[in-house]
Amino acid sequence: MIKINENYQKLQASYLFIDIARRVSSFQKDNPGRELIKLGIGDVTRALPKACIEAFHKGVDEMADDSTFRGYGPEQGYEFLREKIAENDFRARGADISADEIFVSDGAKCDNGNIQEIFAQDIKIAIPDPVYPVYVDTNVMAGRTGNCIDGRYEGMIYLESTKENNYIPELPSSQADLIYLCYPNNPTGASISRKQLKAWVDYARENKSLILFDAAYEAFIRDEKVPHSIYEIEGAREVAVEFRSFSKTAGFTGTRCAYTVVPKDCAGYDSKGDKHYLHGLWNRRHGTKFNGVSYPVQKAAEAVYSEQGRIQTRELADYYLKNASLILQEMTGLGFDCVGGENSPYIWVDGKRDSWEFFDLLLNKAGVVCTPGAGFGKCGQGYIRISAFNNYDKVKKAMLQIKQALAE
Ligand SMILES: *Cc1c(COP(=O)(O)O)cnc(C)c1O
Repeated sequence: MIKINENYQKLQASYLFIDIARRVSSFQKDNPGRELIKLGIGDVTRALPKACIEAFHKGVDEMADDSTFRGYGPEQGYEFLREKIAENDFRARGADISADEIFVSDGAKCDNGNIQEIFAQDIKIAIPDPVYPVYVDTNVMAGRTGNCIDGRYEGMIYLESTKENNYIPELPSSQADLIYLCYPNNPTGASISRKQLKAWVDYARENKSLILFDAAYEAFIRDEKVPHSIYEIEGAREVAVEFRSFSKTAGFTGTRCAYTVVPKDCAGYDSKGDKHYLHGLWNRRHGTKFNGVSYPVQKAAEAVYSEQGRIQTRELADYYLKNASLILQEMTGLGFDCVGGENSPYIWVDGKRDSWEFFDLLLNKAGVVCTPGAGFGKCGQGYIRISAFNNYDKVKKAMLQIKQALAE
């Protein structure tokens, strides 16, 4: 008899985006022809930078000729891309990371979800609330939690991000072995200072823990005080793995390219307490289960680091940041407490009422779609997330319509 992995039955069906879609389609049925402005999903809306497109095309042309054709590439990614990443994303910021510590992949979501495979079953896991659901669900699937009771899994440590702590959780009071952090944050848009991040690195060093640092929104950082990488913090090479993606950085959500940094100093321990380096474990996992990102896509990603590519990707992020700034200014002006919108494409708004009630109000009265915060965890109740991924004129219109709706 073929038996199933019963841990999957513990998963809470994510009704969030299904529920949003249901409410949106019912609104559209009742209001035919009325335009809806979507500031809900975390997906980019603007085309790939020109430099990336040119390199992408050239890569395809190389595949079309026997003399330049390429078959399987290195599982870890081509040297030409890994070198550029190490130089531009790390060494240029004083972070000591070498090309062979970088693993190119087809997504930060997969890497975030797959990394837990290299750790033991009985580790204690700390995850943020509100949270990007991948961190939680992949550990539930692997059987590292108990059942979900009242929105929380037994056996997990929840790191609460609230107004009281300025959306940066306090250090756990008990031992956490694996810690998930994401800054600039999805969904809150909050960013972390060097001093705050240093406290987490120090905690991890003292407790022989590992931090999984998701920096998918790094490209939106403009404030000098906000670290772009955890490796800007002293000692992080021993206790942190970092995830990056070209998805939000350069509009690659549909093109697929990302990377994970596993420094050679990063270690874990076996049941006897002996030290093992994670670089070797991840290399084994990656090489066994992954066959590399397509050559034209890696050429397109490499172009992000060209002179034109850098100008164009910065312009792309600046465009969304201008939207974010407008949303932050307007929502604050309407009397709402907000976080994010600076160094981030997300604005986390305290609606001062139930998340879904606020969602329905904005949908029905303003014709604007947002994301109810309650869908990201217990601490998200009462909040909504507004995304800056849209056209500037539409964002402007959305803000005007929200203002009018609330004045009614
Ligand atoms: C969008 C996003 C990613 C990127 O995922 P990809 O698979 O690289 O597209 C990773 N982490 C968070 C928190 C995100 O919001």
